[in-house]
Amino acid sequence: LQRLRTRLARSDSALSRGLLALLAGGQLDEDTWDDVESTLLAADLGVEASSELVASLKERVAAEGVRDEATMRGWLKEDLHTQLQPQLDRRIASTRVDGRPAVIMVVGVNGTGKTTTVGKLARVLVAEDRDVLLGAADTFRAAAADQLETWGARVGVPTVRSDKDGADPASVAFEAVREGIEAEADVVILDTAGRLHNKADLMNELAKVKRVVEKQSPIDEVLLVLDATTGQNGMRQAQVFSDIVDITGIVLTKLDGTAKGGIVVAVQKALGVPVKLVGLGEGPDDLAPFDPRSFADALLG
Ligand code: GDP
Repeated sequence: LQRLRTRLARSDSALSRGLLALLAGGQLDEDTWDDVESTLLAADLGVEASSELVASLKERVAAEGVRDEATMRGWLKEDLHTQLQPQLDRRIASTRVDGRPAVIMVVGVNGTGKTTTVGKLARVLVAEDRDVLLGAADTFRAAAADQLETWGARVGVPTVRSDKDGADPASVAFEAVREGIEAEADVVILDTAGRLHNKADLMNELAKVKRVVEKQSPIDEVLLVLDATTGQNGMRQAQVFSDIVDITGIVLTKLDGTAKGGIVVAVQKALGVPVKLVGLGEGPDDLAPFDPRSFADALLG
């Protein structure tokens, strides 16, 4: 939590500083409210949430006649916390169900941090004493399986992969789940390919992986990895993937490098699924469960 706060504080102070300056100005006229809304929009909170937050703050200021900056910031934080939908279930499926491993499929556009996230997630689960097995179903990018295997070795879990490039991703996924069942693992995590430039190919490939895996086991969790620094582009990617598979959770990566953490709000609203994990750096320990309370605190200082 402290880490999240310092990481976000480094980049997001722009948001709190901006808001602070506006709210502390004492002149709460329409222009100021517009500026507050623009500041929230610039942090990628999205049009809907930004205007709701401003409307609510405006209303409270009018009703209570308070102009004290700290009080206003407290209200804003409270409303942001509500916008983050703290009631959503953010647990990750990671224990055996019906005598078989939980199966987690990780999807997302290449470069968003998918493979890294699989590695970090494996580490988190190993620390919770889970038996984890990785499946390198991104067979398109030559180095992807090597990269995943390196992560596997690093966190001490086996990786199922194909020896040849361009192998059928569905058959690698099938084999990984088969071995997971045989080894009585707790969790199988599947890394998948994410070539977005050809939606039809992507759709066919992910649909096939899903279909083939489901011959042996239901898929318990489909995590969509999104790069927080990509803003509207990331939102469009999210939409494409949610048209293809039923996303159960979002992992927002690279939050350490952006002042645009507000995308959490926008993407949850757009997809109707919770952000479950956040990536805060490139290292093995830089993955954290998403906590609405500390996030609202960190974002608004
Ligand atoms: P993939 O193509 O989606 O599998 O992406 P990779 O896992 O290979 O990650 C792409 C790059 O993003 C790598 O250099 C990672 O180290 C980096 N990366 C992944 N997650 C994070 C994160 O949370 N923060 C930062 N700063 N970099 C990250």
